Amino acid sequence: MRIKVDFELCESNGLCEAMAPEVFELDDDDFLQLHAEHTTPENEDDVRRAVAACPRAAITLVEGDA
Ligand code: SF4
Repeated sequence: MRIKVDFELCESNGLCEAMAPEVFELDDDDFLQLHAEHTTPENEDDVRRAVAACPRAAITLVEGDA
């Protein structure tokens, strides 16, 4: 699935990074970096936990790879 982040909503609290650090990382300027555009079978559960943890509903998963 495709991972989308609305950077306008993101408040850089790092909760997604805590759930899926291989995909989400706050850089030195507290700006969220997205390390993958798509989930893998290995990280999909972690990414879903990140989606659920985000208090700003800034992360969405979109069906398919487009
Ligand atoms: S959990 Fe949501 S608000 Fe927090 S850093 Fe991640 S995307 Fe941004």
